[in-house]
Amino acid sequence: MTHYICTGTDKGVSDTPGVCGGEGCSKEGESLEACDCADGKHYGRQIHNHNDEEVG
Ligand SMILES: [Zn+2]
Ligand SMILES: [Zn+2]
Repeated sequence: MTHYICTGTDKGVSDTPGVCGGEGCSKEGESLEACDCADGKHYGRQIHNHNDEEVG
């Protein structure tokens, strides 16, 4: 199922096309990119930040 990802620092995912609304995201206000991955990895297109705290 197609979804839309932010490749900025907030690593946002949306079910609908649009722009990133993440406050302070490095791509805030930029268009989300369409993605159709099934494993949630987005083909590695989102940035990886292993210093992030794991949430959930
Ligand atoms: Zn973003
Ligand atoms: Zn994806």
